[in-house]
Amino acid sequence: MIYGINANSFIDYPGEISFVIFTGGCNFNCPYCHNSDIVNKNTKIYSEEEILNMLKERQKFIAAVTITGGEPTIYGEQLINLIKKIKNAGYKIKLDTNGSNASLLKKIIDSNLVNYIAMDIKNTFAKYQITAGKKINIDEIKKSINLIENSKIEYEFRTTINKTMHTENDIKEIISYIKDINKYTLQPYRYSKQQIVDTDFEAWTETEIEDIMNKLKVSV
Ligand code: SF4
Repeated sequence: MIYGINANSFIDYPGEISFVIFTGGCNFNCPYCHNSDIVNKNTKIYSEEEILNMLKERQKFIAAVTITGGEPTIYGEQLINLIKKIKNAGYKIKLDTNGSNASLLKKIIDSNLVNYIAMDIKNTFAKYQITAGKKINIDEIKKSINLIENSKIEYEFRTTINKTMHTENDIKEIISYIKDINKYTLQPYRYSKQQIVDTDFEAWTETEIEDIMNKLKVSV
């Protein structure tokens, strides 16, 4: 299940230094994915015991764990059991998800197992299939957005954008799916040799992204 770690991340958990766990495999096939090694499970495998021991050693320095992927929710109950063990060890937990498993997300939220959820909204619902590289059940995505927004857990939605797949109007439409624009982030696509599909996409610059968000924040 665990195919990678980052023992000290300053960027994955807002306001915290976190220990990052990468789960292997994904049910999406986004052509711009940066984690193909993790998605294709070409990396070192860690046992739960190894991870819990590493966390124990770092308890004095790190208070948070980020569970990302790949897509963690494809592991179902196995993911829930891992989260419980990490929570019992005293850590705050952030879960990253593509929102494709709303029933598991509901279970995690209802059981108060995580402190933060970050969900990717890949694109407008009409463009989901092309962006995620697979036929996607949009109802699951809508249910996940709804569940997260109505939970008491801290959250954010985010979209990794490139100029080939995302227009400014698309971003405007995505924002219409959510309640609070302040909980939405745009991430620039960056080329990486490790992509799943060996295609380069034209990237939005940081300044362009900032301009779009400022414009949209004024218009909502
Ligand atoms: S970018 Fe897409 S393919 Fe890659 S891990 Fe995320 S959801 Fe899966």
